[in-house]
This record gives sequence, structure tokens and C-alpha cells, in this order.
Amino acid sequence: MSVDLKSLVIAIDGPASSGKSTTARLIAQKLGLMYLDTGAMYRAVALKIYRTGIELTDKAALQKMLESTKVEQFCTDDGVHFSLDGDDVSEAIRTPDISLWVGPVSEHGMVREYLVEWQRAIGRNGGIVADGRDIGTVVFPAAQVKVYLNADAHVRALRRQKELFARGIAQSAEEVEEAIVKRDHRDSTREHSPLSKAADAVEIDTTHLTVGDQVEQVLALVRKLVPNLALR
Ligand code: C5P
Repeated sequence: MSVDLKSLVIAIDGPASSGKSTTARLIAQKLGLMYLDTGAMYRAVALKIYRTGIELTDKAALQKMLESTKVEQFCTDDGVHFSLDGDDVSEAIRTPDISLWVGPVSEHGMVREYLVEWQRAIGRNGGIVADGRDIGTVVFPAAQVKVYLNADAHVRALRRQKELFARGIAQSAEEVEEAIVKRDHRDSTREHSPLSKAADAVEIDTTHLTVGDQVEQVLALVRKLVPNLALR
């Protein structure tokens, strides 16, 4: 089976800090495809709920808020950014507070329905690399390439700690590890679209891999489907 690159859908799922976003962004860049960070969408909605104080149990208020919310992803020279109702929230959505808040928000059925619909609309024509927790299982179950990235929890915590430190947030490795293990547990055991490996996904353990290795392993899967793959 050969696939046209322009219609290709690459789904990358996995637990927190397993290397999904970095890998997905680089693959998209190398293949000239669109990149979609679905975690950022859940984070942006969580930020809005946090700021507005809407109760998750207030269905009418939540629906009204979702209908009037605009989350957009855009690129500048310094990387991928996200806006919430026109404001750049790229930094604000990555704080430890929002990482805590996003759990109850992302397990809410109504929030998921909205965001999955947005994500499917964005990827309607293919030509996309999307990363998240339910991309290969729920959002794009027909994706031609499905990858499940995983890594040892301690290694993931150290990566996340480094990332936070670069943004001026200091947390101990133990604190970070406890938070990501809790978040993974919550994501894996929730009722709606729990984090799980799609039956047809290829699992890649990134514990001992460099970013370059991760990217190369995903590209190898793409090469099986797209002959004469030209990289940018
Ligand atoms: O990928 P990231 O760590 O930024 O995702 C933040 C949170 O958003 C996850 O812990 C999960 O609760 C939620 N999420 C989700 N489904 C996705 C992407 C993210 O439930 N497709």
C-alpha cells in the first residue's frame, strides 16, 4: 500500500513527557505536514476554566463557554504558539498549576466532544501529525501511521524538570515524577477516551533514545508507506 504524503495522518500518543510533542513537531517539519498539539488545546480550555471560575458541573455555562472559545495554534520563528481568544497563552498553559487542572477538564465528556470535533475538522484532509492521548484510538482511528511513545517515568520526570527549569520554574525531580505519574494514572483510568495504545500502534520506548533516534524510527514507518520520501 502506498499513500500520498498530502493525505497522510500520523498519530502519536503516549504518557506525559514521553517525547511526543518534540517528535511530532520535527516529523511535521521534515515532511512539510501540519503539526497539531492536542494537549495544548486541553490546557488552553483548562486555563480558561481556571480564569473564569466556571464549575465543571454547570453544563449550561460550560457549553456556552466552549461555544464562544477560540483556541488557535500558530508558528513564529521561535516555535509553535497557542492563542486563547486572541491572547498568546503559550507560556501560561505550561505551568504546574495547569498540569494539575487539566486532568478534571480533559476527563469531562462535553469538553472532549468539542475538542475532538475541532481536531477532526483540522485534520479532515490529512497531511497532519497530531500528538495526544487518544489520537490513534479515537480522534483519527484510521491514521495510516500510529505510534505510542513511552519511557521510564523517572527519565520522563527529568525531561519535564529540565523543560520547566528552562522556563524559570524550579521543582525537584521527585515532585515532577509524582505529578506525572498521577496525571498518567488519571489519564489512563478515566471513563472517556482513556490513554491507551491503539491495537495497531507501534510502541517506541524512548528511555534510551535521542530525539534524532525517535524521529528516525517514526520516519522509518512513514517510508514503508510513502515511497521516495523527500525530507526538508
Ligand atoms: O500533552 P500534554 O501533556 O500537554 O497534555 C495535557 C493533558 O491534556 C493530558 O494530561 C491529558 O489530560 C489531556 N489530553 C487528553 N487528550 C489528548 C491530549 C491531551 O486528554 N489528546
